[in-house]
Amino acid sequence: MAVQQNKVSKSRRNMRRAHDALVAANPNECPNCGELKRPHHVCGACGHYDDRQVVATTDEVDLDEDAA
Ligand SMILES: [Zn+2]
Repeated sequence: MAVQQNKVSKSRRNMRRAHDALVAANPNECPNCGELKRPHHVCGACGHYDDRQVVATTDEVDLDEDAA
């Protein structure tokens, strides 16, 4: 196991951790449904990307089409 040669002071440790903060997400509004979505990602609510449907959402998929 590697052992440090010198004690890292609280000051130096805290200076290192000054850059460890998490940055907040920056969501955009979906132009189709208005839901907040991640930039450059498919909308999780309506499945639209670049003003067209790319992923079918659950309320559009007919799972019991051959049940009748
Ligand atoms: Zn949407």
